[in-house]
Amino acid sequence: MTFATLGLIEPLLRALETLGYQTPTPVQAQAIPAVLAGRDLMAAAQTGTGKTAGFALPLLQLLTMEGPKVAANSARALILCPTRELAEQVHASVAEYAQHLPLTTYAVYGGVSINPQMMKLRKGVDILVATPGRLIDLFRQNALKLNQLQTLVLDEADRMLDLGFSEELANIYRMLPKKRQTLLFSATFSDDIRLLAGQMLNDPLSIEVSPRNVAANTVKQWVVPVDKKRKPELFVHLMRKGRWKQVLVFAKTRNGVDALVDKLQGLGINADGIHGDKPQATRQRALDRFKASEVQILVATDVAARGLDIEDLPLVVNFDLPIVAEDYIHRIGRTGRAGNTGEAISLVCADEVNMLSAIEMLTRQTLTRKMEPDFEPEHRVPDTDASGQVVKKPKKPKKPKASGGGGKRNLGKWVDSGEVAPTEPSIKPVRKVPVFNTGPRKKK
Ligand code: AMP
Repeated sequence: MTFATLGLIEPLLRALETLGYQTPTPVQAQAIPAVLAGRDLMAAAQTGTGKTAGFALPLLQLLTMEGPKVAANSARALILCPTRELAEQVHASVAEYAQHLPLTTYAVYGGVSINPQMMKLRKGVDILVATPGRLIDLFRQNALKLNQLQTLVLDEADRMLDLGFSEELANIYRMLPKKRQTLLFSATFSDDIRLLAGQMLNDPLSIEVSPRNVAANTVKQWVVPVDKKRKPELFVHLMRKGRWKQVLVFAKTRNGVDALVDKLQGLGINADGIHGDKPQATRQRALDRFKASEVQILVATDVAARGLDIEDLPLVVNFDLPIVAEDYIHRIGRTGRAGNTGEAISLVCADEVNMLSAIEMLTRQTLTRKMEPDFEPEHRVPDTDASGQVVKKPKKPKKPKASGGGGKRNLGKWVDSGEVAPTEPSIKPVRKVPVFNTGPRKKK
């Protein structure tokens, strides 16, 4: 199969040739004809599957065939993305695919001045890529009208819900014309996403290119149990031992990112960090330097790392496990792309056992544990498996102290006192799903 047999027009084929895309990926092979035929789509596709071209190519073709006729302060197609980085990346791809077409494209997101964006929208744009908050701001300030909108793409819809954009999505939904094409892409398909799809899509074609919620099998994954306080030391040890060259590291919090970057830089290691507190320009510069291999270790929070597309990234390290299990799939999706093999190593302490269990249940696999000599944890990480069970092995009861005073007794407890171990076996992200009361969609 070729892109030509999928019915794409010559200017798009020429752009793809320049980019070196020879064969459509599975998601492209399914999505392109369906979108060209005007259908709604509900696609479960991980990052790295080529999903962006899957929706962008047919979208560009449909808009071109109709002729450029966008009105002032309008957009004909809207691509909603959860983060600025993803918006930038999607826009860059769309612009590359559109290089021989008479169409205009633009990206808007928060964290930067709104005025230049308002100016740019005056003439209207054919394809607008946006994060939800900034889109609403522009709409409310009358810089953008959506009555000409004919296609809406929700990219990484699961992530938008995880980031708490359900209110924004509900607001945007009310701003949209009833008659439109809607394409929903999501790495994972939770029940919340299915509910959202039920409300926003009209008789969608379902595409699932990778098994539901199963991490890419080209990624070799394992876990190193360790005490929390020794994680930085273990990281440096593994890095030197494995001679890691380019590593993307995930930490749970902004402070965690800063602390690890400080520690690494203090040791003379070429490291940088990205998180939501840093200005957009600083984040982009760190990403660009990492992509150019000028930075060896990039430490990131989940939010900041979205949209990061680096070819052949060999290794991802989870310095902390993600609170939302589905983020584990997004994180390790940064490696093992396009058929390359990759490695994902997680440093796991006893506090994180329930997160580990939730990840194993979601990915339906028990992650191999590799104990690192000299780093065996004092606080044992209880056994877990893909069933979601945390096996609590009681510790040997300690002999009571001779003094027999009021000291803590530890009989039958599987973690030491002072260690926080959540008791619920599965960690569920708190998500709100927008409720739409607008009645059934009109038929196209
Ligand atoms: P995505 O899943 O859209 O983030 O795409 C992942 C990467 O695959 C991007 O770097 C794309 O440029 C690349 N890509 C997408 N489609 C193809 C294709 N058909 N052939 C080769 N590379 C592709």
